[in-house]
Amino acid sequence: MNTKQKIESLREELRQHNYNYYILDDATISDYEFDIKLKELQALEEANPEFFDANSPTQRVGGAVTKNFKTTVHDSRMYSLDNSYSKEDLLDWETRVKKMVDGEVSYICELKYDGASISLTYENGKLLRAVTRGDGVQGDEVTANVKTIHTVPLQLKGDYPERFDIRGEIVLPIEGFLKMNEERVENDEEPYKNPRNTASGSLKLQDSAEVAKRPLECLLYSIVGNNLNITSQFEGLEKARSWGFKVPQEAKLVSSIDDVLEYVEYWDEHRYNLPYEIDGVVVKVNNLYQQDELGFTAKAPRWAMAYKFKAEQVSTRLNEITYQVGRTGAITPVANLEPVQLAGTIVKRASLHNADQIEKLDIREGDEVFVEKGGEIIPKIIAVDLSMRPVNSVPTTYISKCPECDTELVRLEGEAKHYCPNYKACPPQVIGRIQHYISRKAMDIDGLGGETVALLVKEGLIHNYSDLYELTVEQVIPLERMAQKSAENLVKGIELSKQIPFERVLFALGIRYVGETVAKKLAKHYKSIDALMFASILDLVTVDEIGERIAESVVEFFNSEENRQIVERLRSFGVQLEISAEKLANQTDKLKGLSIVVSGVFETISRNDLKKLIEDNGGKVSSSISSKTSYLVAGDKMGPSKLIKAENLGISILTEKAFLSKLK
Ligand SMILES: [Zn+2]
Repeated sequence: MNTKQKIESLREELRQHNYNYYILDDATISDYEFDIKLKELQALEEANPEFFDANSPTQRVGGAVTKNFKTTVHDSRMYSLDNSYSKEDLLDWETRVKKMVDGEVSYICELKYDGASISLTYENGKLLRAVTRGDGVQGDEVTANVKTIHTVPLQLKGDYPERFDIRGEIVLPIEGFLKMNEERVENDEEPYKNPRNTASGSLKLQDSAEVAKRPLECLLYSIVGNNLNITSQFEGLEKARSWGFKVPQEAKLVSSIDDVLEYVEYWDEHRYNLPYEIDGVVVKVNNLYQQDELGFTAKAPRWAMAYKFKAEQVSTRLNEITYQVGRTGAITPVANLEPVQLAGTIVKRASLHNADQIEKLDIREGDEVFVEKGGEIIPKIIAVDLSMRPVNSVPTTYISKCPECDTELVRLEGEAKHYCPNYKACPPQVIGRIQHYISRKAMDIDGLGGETVALLVKEGLIHNYSDLYELTVEQVIPLERMAQKSAENLVKGIELSKQIPFERVLFALGIRYVGETVAKKLAKHYKSIDALMFASILDLVTVDEIGERIAESVVEFFNSEENRQIVERLRSFGVQLEISAEKLANQTDKLKGLSIVVSGVFETISRNDLKKLIEDNGGKVSSSISSKTSYLVAGDKMGPSKLIKAENLGISILTEKAFLSKLK
């Protein structure tokens, strides 16, 4: 076998394994064996670049970065569907259909996947491009990102047409979504709201390697094109399946609206057994000739109708209100419910947000409450069933003392939440601060997890994050679930964190209101912890976007003798407490005092990099045009209103090129 044949045969083999694993859910080799073969192919392709193929299985790992997504016109329009909500709606639709076509009408019922619509174009069996729905006429080309999704075949098999579009939905299965959110919560990041938004957001990420990490799937339901030799929707689905696409098996061919309703009822009840979310059912006239006759209205096909499920709501008893204490001492009330089945899961808890929320809805222990799970994963209480309120019911009195350390709670003016002020010794605060310090976006300490931190604190081995740097392997080994190797990794991970740049250290300190962005701003302005430590409130508020609330919090943090000692210990261990000389060298004052608006799409630089460039050179990036704007840097496709406003105010408009050369 020559090299070319070897490459081809490896590609074919990997494609088949990919298909077995992701489409048939029936792997025949281990992940390890798969990886070995993939690496072998990668090595061969690297050594023989003349055999490069954009649709090789090696291209799925991502790595391509798309700065600007190209707008692409769909070969044929992506229509949306008309919605129906009742049996009457469906019967009316059937009457309209039967008036327009001759002969028997049969229907195909399909599930309505809740994700991001996508149109894939294939030519000669190869994926040519993937385009988002956009406005239906044109969308964004997201091919590099879609290629990383394993259920999208890069090379078709069997007897496929020369060129066609296939439409479907990119979804994020619930299990993968929950796992992603778990990680985010661990990293002290805001969890994603729901799988659908996360799926559509993923398609527009610039770095396809990031997309590759997300467990997205592509479910397909419609083939569009000329001379396809397909006579019904049902046949289309079967053919698509045979070419290697993931087409869910739940589609059903029926002959009456009564059957349709039965299908709807079945899936309204059983939808939570599916691995992904659906929000209804789609009914289509099965015969493609009849579909042609029916045609389209201005907005939607006449031959299809969506049936939307109602958001599910249940009532259950609120047994008890408990209170959680967060890292910053913020108190969150939690409703502990009589376990109840809702949207496919057993719900035991719901968030009550804060004291105001409880007061507003007059929520009391013992109440029968209505719980809803809309697009969000965490259920919420939307109302109290007052008719069921027990006669001896008493209004909820919000706690006045910390449930963890018994300290009197405080509530600052204008704040919704209560806080436990026992910064030094309240256990969830002490542990939470160290957990925040080691988290991914902060010091990113490998080999040390949140539970181990809690254990280290409980065993008295550490009291604050500076103590981490004195931990020894011998101290750590006796802990639960620790072995020599993991103890060594832990100590090594802590050692490595001494390289983390100052701005992230500043974020890691856990000063209230100093998030990632604020930490960056402060680091850039003060350049060292010493300068920041001596800054007054008056001085701090002169920094861009630093308000009084943040300024007070920073001053308060460094006013504490204990915090200053912790900082000194960090310094003695070699943690970065100032901006590195290299970073300083890249910064200038060239744009000092200038307020710059960036708009449109740029050719040689991403919008984020452009913003960073402006900030590194001392300028301020502003989002809207006003008389204070110094320049408008205009890219392609910027909105006409911004342009007109800039012209009216007499603001200088610079092209990307002009702006970049100005900086040089
Ligand atoms: Zn407390």
